[in-house]
Amino acid sequence: MYSTGNRITWLQGPGANCAGTGPVPPRPWHFVLLGPPGVGKGTQAEQIIAEYGACHLSTGDVFRYAAHDTSGQAPSPAMAVALAAMKRGELVSDATVVELVRERAQCLACRYGFLLDGFPRTLEQAHALDGILARIGRPLDAAINYFAPESLIIERLSGRRVCQQCRTGYHVANKPPRVSGRCDACGGELIQREDDKPEAIRTRLRAYAATCDPVLEYYRRQGLLREIDASSDPKAVFVHTRDVIQKLNRAVSS
Ligand code: AMP
Repeated sequence: MYSTGNRITWLQGPGANCAGTGPVPPRPWHFVLLGPPGVGKGTQAEQIIAEYGACHLSTGDVFRYAAHDTSGQAPSPAMAVALAAMKRGELVSDATVVELVRERAQCLACRYGFLLDGFPRTLEQAHALDGILARIGRPLDAAINYFAPESLIIERLSGRRVCQQCRTGYHVANKPPRVSGRCDACGGELIQREDDKPEAIRTRLRAYAATCDPVLEYYRRQGLLREIDASSDPKAVFVHTRDVIQKLNRAVSS
């Protein structure tokens, strides 16, 4: 069972030093996790990390962290524009997201490996990522694409709740807290993310659909794409995820 550091460099930027903790995996994996918002990439990421190590690097988490920054410092102008786009459920500009990932390249070079979640979302971002990975000598092992019917995704997203204090995730039907509206871990108030409200969900799914095909095709052509049906429960989906990783493992060790 692996655990990785506190992701503080990823969340706050290169000025913050994360202390990688726990055993280093024998083989650091470098994965991109693809799929629409709400398909369950975050849940799969948690299980991949526990079994194989790696750090969960979500670009959405970087924006959410900045949105809840309590340091009292105003966000940079570029970040303020990005946060307004996020609140509407729209994509942040390629230039801003790529810059944010580029300045965190040390997280991609980390000895624990990485699971990039929510990036790349456009072909431009995929090209930029290749450039960054080539510079740090960490080629991708695979791009794992999770898919599920839209009706199921809307149901999952609209029931999602998150603790305002510690960010632990819940679902009103599938993973309810013991006390309604309160976090099991810290007792904090559970809230619905601004971008999990119905209008923003529709905008996010449209934004995803408008840009995903070229990215999938890009990785398919390179032989890196692995497709996983994510309509069943997370444990069953993880059986397929593990299968994909074990096949990759056999391929690299043969
Ligand atoms: P997520 O948690 O991945 O759904 O991301 C939440 C929001 O952050 C998205 O709806 C976008 O506004 C923004 N965002 C995160 N990653 C990207 C990206 N790679 N490109 C553009 N916008 C992004």
